[in-house]
Amino acid sequence: MAEQEGLQYGKADFVLMDSVTLPEFMDNLKLRFEKGRIYTFIGEVVVSMNPYKNLPIYGKDTIEQYKGRELYERPPHLFSIADAAYKAMKRRCKDTCIVISGESGAGKTEASKYIMQYIAAITNPSQRAEVERVKNMLLKSNCVLEAFGNAKTTRNDNSSRFGKYMDINFDFKGDPIGGHISNYLLEKSRVIVQQLGERNFHSFYQLILGAPEQTLRSLHLQKDISSYMYTRSIVQMKSSVNDAGEFKEVSEAMKVIGFKPEEIQTVYKVLAAILHLGNLKFTLDGDTPLIENSKVVSVVADLLGSKFELLEKALLYRTVATGRDVIDKQHTEQEASYGRDAFAKAIYERLFCWIVTHINDVIDVKKQDAALHGKNTVIGVLDIYGFEIFDNNSFEQFCINYCNEKLQQLFIQLVLTQEQEEYKREGIPWKHIDYFNNQIIVDLVEQQHRGIISLLDDACMNVGKVTDPMFLDALNKPLGKHAHYSSRKTCPTDKALEYDRDFRIRHYAGDVVYSVVGFIDKNKDTLFQDFKRLLYNSTNPVLKNMWPEGKLSITEVTKRPLTAATLFKNSMIALVDNLASKEPYYVRCIKPNDKKSPALFDEERCKHQVEYLGLLENVRVRRAGFAYRQVYEKFLHRYKMISQLTWPNHDLPSDQIAVQKLLTECGFQQDAAYGKTKVFIRTPRTLFSLEEKRSEM
Ligand code: ATP
Ligand code: MG
Repeated sequence: MAEQEGLQYGKADFVLMDSVTLPEFMDNLKLRFEKGRIYTFIGEVVVSMNPYKNLPIYGKDTIEQYKGRELYERPPHLFSIADAAYKAMKRRCKDTCIVISGESGAGKTEASKYIMQYIAAITNPSQRAEVERVKNMLLKSNCVLEAFGNAKTTRNDNSSRFGKYMDINFDFKGDPIGGHISNYLLEKSRVIVQQLGERNFHSFYQLILGAPEQTLRSLHLQKDISSYMYTRSIVQMKSSVNDAGEFKEVSEAMKVIGFKPEEIQTVYKVLAAILHLGNLKFTLDGDTPLIENSKVVSVVADLLGSKFELLEKALLYRTVATGRDVIDKQHTEQEASYGRDAFAKAIYERLFCWIVTHINDVIDVKKQDAALHGKNTVIGVLDIYGFEIFDNNSFEQFCINYCNEKLQQLFIQLVLTQEQEEYKREGIPWKHIDYFNNQIIVDLVEQQHRGIISLLDDACMNVGKVTDPMFLDALNKPLGKHAHYSSRKTCPTDKALEYDRDFRIRHYAGDVVYSVVGFIDKNKDTLFQDFKRLLYNSTNPVLKNMWPEGKLSITEVTKRPLTAATLFKNSMIALVDNLASKEPYYVRCIKPNDKKSPALFDEERCKHQVEYLGLLENVRVRRAGFAYRQVYEKFLHRYKMISQLTWPNHDLPSDQIAVQKLLTECGFQQDAAYGKTKVFIRTPRTLFSLEEKRSEM
C-alpha cells in the first residue's frame, strides 16, 4: 500500500479507509484535492483529479523518485503506474497497457502525455541515437495529432475528437524502438458545423493565424477567421491558447517526424481548400443549381491540383450507372450542398488518417529490425474521447458514449468480475460484491439484429427513402421495453423527449437524449464517387496517393461499403480484444467541476463520477481481495531458499503445504490464503519482504 505522507493529506490509498462508504470516499478525495494531492490509489488503479492548474510534480526530480520503485513505495502518481507497467513489461516480458478513462475534460490526454514523457525519461540510459530518435518522434506526434484531431468544445478547450491507442515497442534492453498509433472515428462533422461556443479543429485557426503572409497568399487565404463559414463561429478563447505559436510548433514537429516540404504544403492546401469550399454558394436558375461564386471553384481546383471544369462538374452532377449506360445526373440544390459538405468532411478525415499513417511509417518497427532486436514487448496507452452529454447529442456522441460503455465493460470484466471468479474457482472464502454490470447497455447498442446499430444499418440499407424519424420508429418496437431505452412513443408522459426526434439511453454514466436528426446520413457516410475520382486524378501526387479508390471507374464500384457505425463497432471490438490480451493498468480520471476551476470541488459532480466509475466497488473488491497470486510450484521455485524446510527441496506431502510452512515460518500466515492451485497474498508489502529475504540469502 502506498507510502503515507502524513494524515493531513488524507489516505493515499482508498483501500486504507476506515469504512468503505461513499461519504468517506468523498471526504478523502476532497481533502486530497484541496491539498494538491491529485492522485490516489485503489490498489494498482490510480484515481486522478484534474487540478486545472500547473503543479510542480512532473519534473526530473519527481521522475527520479519513481524510477524503478515499487508501486507502494512512493506517493500515488501517474509515474507509479507507468513504472509498474514498464517493470511488468521488462521483468516479466508481459505486454501491458494503460487504459485512461473518464469524461470529457477529466484529464486523460494530459495524463497520457505525462506517462509517455515518463517512459521516455527513464529509458535509453546509454543514449543510443536510434532510440532517442524514436522517443522524440513519439513525443512529437502528440502535438501534430492534437492540432488536427482536437478542438474546443463546451466541455474542454482541447477536447480529443478522435480516439487514440498508441503501442510503444521495446527491445530486450527495455528501450523504445518504435510504436504504432491506431486512431478511431474522427468527429468530422465538426469540419462543417460546430455547436454554439465550440470551434472547428485547431489546425484551421493555426493556419489562418500562424502561417506566414506569403503562405497565406499562396493559399488565397486572409488572416481573418471570420471570413470563412467553417471557422466563423465566435468563440472566446482563453488567452493561453496561442494558435499562431502552435502553428510553428506543429510545422516544426511535422518536419522532425519526416514530412517532406511538399507534403507539408499539401496539408496546408487541403486545409485551405476546405475553408474555401465552405464559402462556396449555390443558387438556382429555375430548377437548376448553379455555383454563385465560381472564383472560389477555381481557387479550390487550383489547391487540389484539379481543373475548374472538373471540380464544377463534380459539385453539380454525379455519374450514375444505369444498366450499361453511364449518365451525368444533375444535383438538386440540396444534393449539391450535401455533396460539398461531404467532400469537405471527407478530405479532412482522409488528411487526418494520412497523417497518422505517415507517422506510423516512420515509427513502426520494421520487420527486419524487430528480428534484430530480439524479444519485442509492448506498452499500449489508450486515450480516447470521454463520455459526453451536450445540449444536443447526435450520432457522434452516440458513438463516443458507446465506446465508453465498452471500456467500462472491460474494466468490470477485468477488475471486478474476473477477480471474484478466480477466488470462487480457487475456493477462497469470498463474499460476492455487487456492482452494476453495463453489459446490458453494450448489448442495447451492438447486439446483432436487435441492437441500435443493426437497426440503424437496416434503415440505411433500405432501398426506399427512409427518414430519420422512420428509423426512430423502427427502434421503438424492438426496444420499447428495454430498461435503458426510451422515446416519446414508448413513454408519452416524458416531455423532455420530442416526438419523432429523440431517444434516450440510460448510460452507465448518466442519461443522454440523442436527436436522430442526421443519423442516417452520417451512418451512410456517402461521398459521391466523382469526388474520389477527382482527387485520384489530381496533379498533386501526395493527394493522389490519399485517394487510391478513385482509380475505380463507376462501373467497377459495386460493393456497398460498411456503414460508419458498423466500422466503429468493429474497431471497438478489436480494440477491446487487444486490450484484454495485455496486462492492464488503469487511470480513472475525475473532473472536479464544470467551470475549469482549480479551486472548486463540486461535490455532486464528483460523487456522480465516483459512482458511475464503480470506484467504491473497486475498493471493496480490492480490500477483500489479494494483491498477488501464484501457483504453488512457481512460488516455491522463487522463494524456497528462504526456509530450511523447503531448501533445496521439501519432503512435505504437497507444494501447498510447503508454501504454508514457509509463509508461517516468516510470520505472514495472516496475510495469505491458500486456494486449490495458487497461494494468495493480501498486501504487496509481504511480497516485498519476501523479495528482501530472498536477496539476503
Ligand atoms: P476529452 O475527452 O475531451 O479529450 P480529456 O480527459 O482528454 O478530455 P484533457 O484534455 O486531458 O481532458 O484535460 C483538459 C484540460 O484540463 C487540459 O487542457 C488542462 O488545462 C487541464 N488539465 C488536465 N490534467 C492536468 C494536469 N495534470 N495538470 C494541469 N492541468 C491539467
Ligand atoms: Mg482528450
